[in-house]
Amino acid sequence: MINLKPSKDPQKILDLVEKLRRDVETIVANNPGIEIWNCDQTGLVKECHGMRTHSRTGSKKVKVKVQSKNATSHSITFLPIIGSDGFQHDKVFIQLGEPNGRLPQKGCYSDNTIHVSVAKSHIMSRATAEHFFQNVLFGGKVPATLLLILDSWPIFRDHAFIKSFAPPSTDLHIINIPPGGTSICQPADLSYNHQLKGIQKRLTSLVMFRDIRYRVSERDNLLKFASQAHWVIGSPRFKSFIAYGFYKGGFIHSKPPPFDGPKQFIFGAGISKPCSCSQEGFTVCPRCEESFCFECFWDKCHRC
Ligand SMILES: [Zn+2]
Ligand SMILES: [Zn+2]
Repeated sequence: MINLKPSKDPQKILDLVEKLRRDVETIVANNPGIEIWNCDQTGLVKECHGMRTHSRTGSKKVKVKVQSKNATSHSITFLPIIGSDGFQHDKVFIQLGEPNGRLPQKGCYSDNTIHVSVAKSHIMSRATAEHFFQNVLFGGKVPATLLLILDSWPIFRDHAFIKSFAPPSTDLHIINIPPGGTSICQPADLSYNHQLKGIQKRLTSLVMFRDIRYRVSERDNLLKFASQAHWVIGSPRFKSFIAYGFYKGGFIHSKPPPFDGPKQFIFGAGISKPCSCSQEGFTVCPRCEESFCFECFWDKCHRC
């Protein structure tokens, strides 16, 4: 791939990231019991495909089956909150782009683990960031002392704006990852986002391979997927996996114990067992460890 963007001096970025790690170390040393959270926006493409095809190596023409021609380029913004101790916030913020900036009258899929905001585009603005701060980040239980690691998105650099939504009792510290530094140290970028997208790709490939009648790109189905994937990754068994992003980013120093990756676990050997409804197994629940068919897990949104 050719990168046409003028690249910043890599050594300068590394130096800034090193300084950031030292700053975090100082804040942590001065504030015993502080919790470290990372919030990172990621785009979820409405239809996401795996790169594997059934053609043999060397085939010149590879036909890719796509469910919806218009869906491949659209996306929603998915903004989870994760913590250095393996914590994942109960709620995830989602921004949905709709042609009029409004939902149809019948509304959309919703449950108590997603907070959906609608605008003309899925790209977050100051107004929708406000929804995120108010309803999700500071909408539930907030630690007494909190350090937020955020990237350099202009709204995330406006610390006074963010602090205006925090409970007055919270001792809030905010640091920003320098531009160009997210792939080196942003915890969510180093583990979480890869798995999230990997789960979506595997699911889409399996749906097509098994000819399951389900449009992954439909608005409600995409929201169900986002909610269910978030619930899956938040399973206690993936705490080490979430913490690993903070370790790899250089913000914590004790290496988390070995772990299963969420995608490997839920689509692993366990799916050979049929679902209790007798349909073919599709996903192993990371919480109750039972095997479920596509419909029971992803369409009816299994929770336990
Ligand atoms: Zn379960
Ligand atoms: Zn079933």
